[in-house]
Amino acid sequence: MIDFRSDTVTRPTQEMRQAMASAEVGDDVYGDDPTVNSLQDYAADRLGFEAALFTPTGTQANLLAIMSHCGRGDEYLCGQSAHNYRYEGGGAAVLGSIQPQPIENEPDGSIDLAKARAAVKADDFHFAMTRLLSLENTIGGKVLSLDYQRQARAFCDEHQLRLHLDGARVFNAAVKSNCDVTEITRYYDSVSVCLSKGLGAPVGSILVGSKEFIARATRLRKMLGGAMRQAGILAAAGRIALEQGPLRLHEDHENAEYLAAGLVEIPSMAINPANTQTNIVYAHCRHGKAAALRDFLATRGILITAGDPIRFVTHRDVGRTDIDRLLGEIRQFYQSHQ
Ligand SMILES: *Cc1c(COP(=O)(O)O)cnc(C)c1O
Repeated sequence: MIDFRSDTVTRPTQEMRQAMASAEVGDDVYGDDPTVNSLQDYAADRLGFEAALFTPTGTQANLLAIMSHCGRGDEYLCGQSAHNYRYEGGGAAVLGSIQPQPIENEPDGSIDLAKARAAVKADDFHFAMTRLLSLENTIGGKVLSLDYQRQARAFCDEHQLRLHLDGARVFNAAVKSNCDVTEITRYYDSVSVCLSKGLGAPVGSILVGSKEFIARATRLRKMLGGAMRQAGILAAAGRIALEQGPLRLHEDHENAEYLAAGLVEIPSMAINPANTQTNIVYAHCRHGKAAALRDFLATRGILITAGDPIRFVTHRDVGRTDIDRLLGEIRQFYQSHQ
């Protein structure tokens, strides 16, 4: 199967499997797993923070961040299309009793800071206490500018808010911004990063922040059932993902551009190639035949996410020849489905 549904589908490399098989392990709940400890130290350093925590998922890393920054009855500002508002089961509200205050994202994925300012609640007992702004970079494959993130930091300082980054794909953002990842992460109080997407690990995310923040998150991770035992097996692959994964993300971006350029040539597809900034390509099916296209492609061994728009994600396990095959099959489909 050629899988364009997500960059989460990457399989661990031979090198990762070997590192997993030979990883030194201990009970991480006792803090005894040297491979987890080493990954956390490396991640904290790599992202420019005091401390890091290895988590089973990005969803949990975001939840820990929101719950560590906010208490029961507080609120966080986030984008209407933020992953940690839309796609995480409402965890902050359900499990943290923290109210989300979503704000419509701008077309570039940012949150207009004037709208954020208007949403910050006054100190009045009628209102929840606004504690946190949560941004996402990349968001829908789009990159927030460094200048915008600097302004967001200033905004948070002005209003005594904490600033969290859902950086599931922050290394894709760094590649596109042509900067070291710390040029982005420096603006934030905490950052979550998925090791299991384009970076290629089979499982796991990282949350970084101050020592005190990570101590709170560690307590909450235990409460939420995310404290694992010989997790070094997973951290061993995560370490390789974090060290080596970023070095090849530019290939995914080039492949996404190549795919977008190919889709532009297909009249039944509506696509603005300027929107393809990293490894995610969105295209509308002009005839509303996305589901039929998905089913057709599946019979040809190709998997896509058939929303409106259709989403194609490039990653380590799809190359140029796979993209050529995809484009060929899409053309074939439209020849018989005008
Ligand atoms: C994938 C993703 C997450 C959550 O990661 P999981 O490991 O799937 O829980 C969070 N935020 C963003 C932006 C993501 O793309």
